[in-house]
Amino acid sequence: MDAMDKGFGAIVQRFSDEKAAREYVERLRWPNGPVCPKCGSADHYRLCPRPDSKKPGRRGLLKCKACRRQYTVTVGTVMEDSKIPLGTWLMAFYLVCASKKAISAHQLHRMLAITYKSAWFMAHRIRYAMTQEPLAGKLGQNNGEVEIDEVYIGGQRCTSAARSAGVARVAAPWARSPSSA
Ligand SMILES: [Zn+2]
Repeated sequence: MDAMDKGFGAIVQRFSDEKAAREYVERLRWPNGPVCPKCGSADHYRLCPRPDSKKPGRRGLLKCKACRRQYTVTVGTVMEDSKIPLGTWLMAFYLVCASKKAISAHQLHRMLAITYKSAWFMAHRIRYAMTQEPLAGKLGQNNGEVEIDEVYIGGQRCTSAARSAGVARVAAPWARSPSSA
């Protein structure tokens, strides 16, 4: 089972460890090992700061043996050029994708204990990622299949009597996952 299928509690527990979060994202992006985003070469080595270095160094830094460029797993993704920990990104991805109704930047800010500015930035980029492949196809674009669920709004209590008393019924679209097709 994928780590992201185990619920939010398990995600917080596992990805509070930044090293585990980075390894997870690397495995997702590069199932057969790192590939240079510039030239496509798989020949690389990992750069680690010297033990006596006063600078912390860039986390997860790799260097391509073919084109000599440095890169990390976030290059070319919505997480690029962000100082927000990868574990926090994974938690935000989960919350945005698992929320049946939309989740606000304010709610991300409260739940992840990050600044509103960071939450707004992440929400913006994650929503953008959802308009791009492969997520876009899962949300019904490009003839993707979408399921419709019912949501009742209004009334005093969610009972069958309340429903028959004229409570508004609206449709909540959900993308159907390939496994449930
Ligand atoms: Zn390269």
